[in-house]
Amino acid sequence: MLNGLKQFSKFYKFSSLPAKSPRVAVFSAKKYDIKFFNQINEKLPIEKRIIFDYFEEELNEKTAILTQGYDVICPFVNDKLNSPTIETLAKNGIDLIALRCAGFNNTDLECAYQNNIKVVRVPAYSPHAVAEHTMALLLSLVRKIHKAHNRTKDGNFSLDGLLGFDLYKKKIGIFGTGKIGQTFMGICQGFGMEILCHDPYPNEEVVKQYNARYVDQATLFKECDIISLHCPLTFSTQYIIDRKTIDIMKRGAIILNTGRGKLMRTDEVIAALKTGQLGGVALDVYEHEEGYFFKDVSSDVIYDDDLARLLMYPNVIVTSHQAFFTQEAITAICQTTIDNILKIKGNEPCDNMVLPLQK
Ligand code: NAD
Repeated sequence: MLNGLKQFSKFYKFSSLPAKSPRVAVFSAKKYDIKFFNQINEKLPIEKRIIFDYFEEELNEKTAILTQGYDVICPFVNDKLNSPTIETLAKNGIDLIALRCAGFNNTDLECAYQNNIKVVRVPAYSPHAVAEHTMALLLSLVRKIHKAHNRTKDGNFSLDGLLGFDLYKKKIGIFGTGKIGQTFMGICQGFGMEILCHDPYPNEEVVKQYNARYVDQATLFKECDIISLHCPLTFSTQYIIDRKTIDIMKRGAIILNTGRGKLMRTDEVIAALKTGQLGGVALDVYEHEEGYFFKDVSSDVIYDDDLARLLMYPNVIVTSHQAFFTQEAITAICQTTIDNILKIKGNEPCDNMVLPLQK
């Protein structure tokens, strides 16, 4: 366990909190989670305060045993809420899973509800955080900023190999026109890009506001210079980027993935990077990110061959699921998570409940 208890008791004495205060075990906790949760909790009236304990461990079927004595758990994106984990949670009396993220693909919702455990999430915190990071990745990739930065630090001021291309008038394909997709469209519009998009639920406002054109999936893949993924990971979107869809793309197309790792079949993306069918890839998420992302493994060997290869390619940029990571977004995530817990525990309606049918 992180020094959450110590951090907590700096602000409150347990004995001063009402006995009915929700006891929440936060998993995969980092220093910033403790800081932001405690800051917000501290400002609540005493009768609303939550007892937070912070576990550095990932939540999975082995660590679920740690939840004894709590009534709520607060997991993050890579915690594994499969049926064995959930059954242990139920045995330990957990009645609420308060996800501190938007995606809920890591949670077996049917199993949770069968065990009378409610699930809530943070559907929106800062679409700007993710959309701006997506543009940062795109600009770095096409202007080779990652290479230039390393070069000039080493006293090499040559431009050989750094030739980029303009984004102006390039066709960008936005796959998923929800909150993040639309925010990213606004940024792309500012760069003078032509915007194509695909979504099973087209939105006329998007067409008007961003001068965008809805097309079918195949047309988006076929026509765009750059494709950016902003849909959730579901049964229908898993591996939407594979050899078949890559083969219909323009030669040298660029893919941006700040959605979820399993939207892309990594080995087939690597094969297309080798042949030049793909011109570059920027990833904030990776198919097998658990075990690496959010951790410092700089002194270890990377055993994941696909990840090691991606890190080696000059036309690939990998960030470790940091698109959400801005002060504004973390504040909103912690605030909404606390609101969700207080509403459910206070038997008030909560708009952020996730139900099995939504999966
Ligand atoms: P959102 O719910 O507002 O939008 C998702 C959109 O995807 C919706 O319009 C939906 O209709 C569309 N969609 C669903 N199935 C589709 C399909 N088969 N093809 C095309 N579009 C489809 O969600 P959002 O807030 O915009 O977030 C999008 C995703 O971004 C999340 O599901 C999450 O996986 C990811 N995300 C990543 C980070 C990060 O730090 N990298 C942070 C937040 C969210």
